[in-house]
Amino acid sequence: MKITFPHMGSLYIAVEALLQELGHDVVVPPPTTKRTLELGVRYGPEVACLPFKVMIGNLLEARALGADTVLMIGGTGPCRLGYYAEVQRQILEELGTGLEVLVLEQPLENPARLRGDLRELFRGRRVSRLPWALYIAWEKLKACEALEELALVVRPREKALGLTSQVLAQALREVREAGGVRAVHQALKLGKVALRDTGAPGKDRVHRIGVVGEIYTVLEPFVNLRLEERLGQLGAEVVRTISVVEWVRNHVLKGSVGLYKTTKLERSAVGYLRGWIGGHGLESVARANDLAADGVDGVVHILPFTCMPEVVAQAILEGVARDREVPILSLVVDEHTAEAGFQTRLEAFMDLIRRSERWAVHV
Ligand code: SF4
Repeated sequence: MKITFPHMGSLYIAVEALLQELGHDVVVPPPTTKRTLELGVRYGPEVACLPFKVMIGNLLEARALGADTVLMIGGTGPCRLGYYAEVQRQILEELGTGLEVLVLEQPLENPARLRGDLRELFRGRRVSRLPWALYIAWEKLKACEALEELALVVRPREKALGLTSQVLAQALREVREAGGVRAVHQALKLGKVALRDTGAPGKDRVHRIGVVGEIYTVLEPFVNLRLEERLGQLGAEVVRTISVVEWVRNHVLKGSVGLYKTTKLERSAVGYLRGWIGGHGLESVARANDLAADGVDGVVHILPFTCMPEVVAQAILEGVARDREVPILSLVVDEHTAEAGFQTRLEAFMDLIRRSERWAVHV
């Protein structure tokens, strides 16, 4: 079995480690490019959301490299994520790819199917290695996230334009290549030192901009047109509100045994939204409200065109912006989004914030 999975930011580093430790032959799809999107647009349904199309492109590119099995996560709720794996399975079958799709979803949803797919995933594999495989994948996941978060802080203070992104890419490569937990920790330590070294002394006056939105769009730089990098290079310290580590804790660990509750988010969104609306819609409203209370200078809300939960959030965020007197910029992305227009909107937003004189000082 040659197994693959779609991209979502740097998550491939942890997933690759997990599958390799279990003894799988792993085919990581090539980094997402325009060609990936073209494939997804050609073979995905026109009305599908952008993440779906990009993922189809990833899987077809991985198949060209020899993959024969796909590992996907399932989903529930009022948005389209719950249909992703099934529709992808049909498309891949109609294209005659021969790719088998295994779906990991919460056990309470479809226990029989999950049991079958897990049996297939572990057939002839080193099941006794599972705890170790999970451990190293978890440590790599946490290391990647810590490095990316530090990059958000140092980028607006970097000595030379683009230096932080270069150093971050190298640090992530070191984490990917680390062969054990101790090596992961060492790569993290060295990566942090290298990232801190990219900052220019005295360049400590920056604006803080929170980013909220649909998880895939926030985390996948190709899809969000390198939003965090662009904001950082425009002088903003980005506060990322979406964490894969947190998502795994809440949705995979607690959610799989019915222990995940949205009470805290509902409390933060009180007066705007009463409960979960699928995807990260509730999170977007709650986090934007929290960010405003925390004194950020602005919030960017990013969403794929036709994303149902985020369209609801987008309408509500107008009220949050008004009540909290915080500028909120909504950016809708799809396969037609052009870089020049995207950059112009970010520059105009940062100009607006600079004129608002809400300077924040951080060291
Ligand atoms: S949250 Fe939005 S983009 Fe993600 S699967 Fe659901 S509808 Fe699509």
